[in-house]
Amino acid sequence: MENKKQLRHWLDAMGLDHPLVIAGPCSAETEEQVLNIAHQLKESDATVFRAGIWKPRTRPGNFEGVGALGLKWLQKAKQETGLMITTEVANPHHVELALEHDVDIFWIGARTTVSPFIVQDIADALRGTNKPVLIKNPVNPDLSLWLGAVERFYKADIENLGVIHRGFSTYEKTRYRNNPEWQIAVDLQNRFPDLPLILDPSHIAGRRDIIFDLSQTALDLNYDGLMIETHHDPDNAWSDAAQQITPKELIKYTEDLRIRKESGDDAAFTNKINTLRTKIDVIDHQLIEILGKRMKVADDIGQLKKDHNVAVLQSKRWNEILGKMILEGEEKNLSEEFILRMFKAIHQESINHQEDIINH
Ligand code: PEP
Ligand code: MN
Repeated sequence: MENKKQLRHWLDAMGLDHPLVIAGPCSAETEEQVLNIAHQLKESDATVFRAGIWKPRTRPGNFEGVGALGLKWLQKAKQETGLMITTEVANPHHVELALEHDVDIFWIGARTTVSPFIVQDIADALRGTNKPVLIKNPVNPDLSLWLGAVERFYKADIENLGVIHRGFSTYEKTRYRNNPEWQIAVDLQNRFPDLPLILDPSHIAGRRDIIFDLSQTALDLNYDGLMIETHHDPDNAWSDAAQQITPKELIKYTEDLRIRKESGDDAAFTNKINTLRTKIDVIDHQLIEILGKRMKVADDIGQLKKDHNVAVLQSKRWNEILGKMILEGEEKNLSEEFILRMFKAIHQESINHQEDIINH
């Protein structure tokens, strides 16, 4: 897939002077719920109304969506509010039904993107339509799998495309429901700068309180839009209750978010430097995470040394580590002096941790 301007034609054609906002409930629940939320969103910056009709659930038994019936409610919401509508399609039958109900934009869910067979079936079903297709990242952190799905649509002559970054699942429990792994989306953005990139902070967060900050990071990284789950009564939503916000909150968020506009030399410079700084912030955050992980392993070693009555400091092992790291550092253009200083500091912190463990 080359880098083609027409990938973002659908977005440019909207003529927005701010990033695209897609909002609406996780799931369509009832006709009243859909219409209530859509009418409230008419007063917001949202251009597109989202609602899941068929819900892919990790475990059976949770609410699995109202099914085709809900498409009529979406269609009504579109007629009454003028908002465009989007829903997730997970097989060719969904595509057929959604096309019959004037769905404007299709999205491919994270559990679908992982399967090239299903992605191919959906791409074939959409061949020949000019409806935009937004592809969510696969649940696992695999850029090729994500790009592969985009390519399958592109090869099916679908040129109105975009991607949605919704985070990646991890076995380990973190503060996120799905780890953002910003670097993966930034790599994708570097390779395909014309492919619209949209953040779904709701599924990354899994909780309301960090949606604003995630959205701000995305805007600082020059994302093209946001998809935010919005419900008139979030606590009583039938799915993803903890992460939905009200339409009023969404309006406040979009007022408070800083948007960096590219225009004029000065603005272009500020925009570029802010994007680069945000990339540094993302990497610094990863550094802290990884140092925290390293220290946890050092703690385990401390415990083991305590149980076996072994001394904290073992200079032979430490010199081996240093030697290896100096060589690896050279390959990355990092000076010996820097590597020495950094690892001395890390090592000292490990020793402090282990002494703490042994003395308590
Ligand atoms: C959703 O958007 O409601 C959804 C199910 O998302 P994902 O595919 O990212 O889990
Ligand atoms: Mn959801």
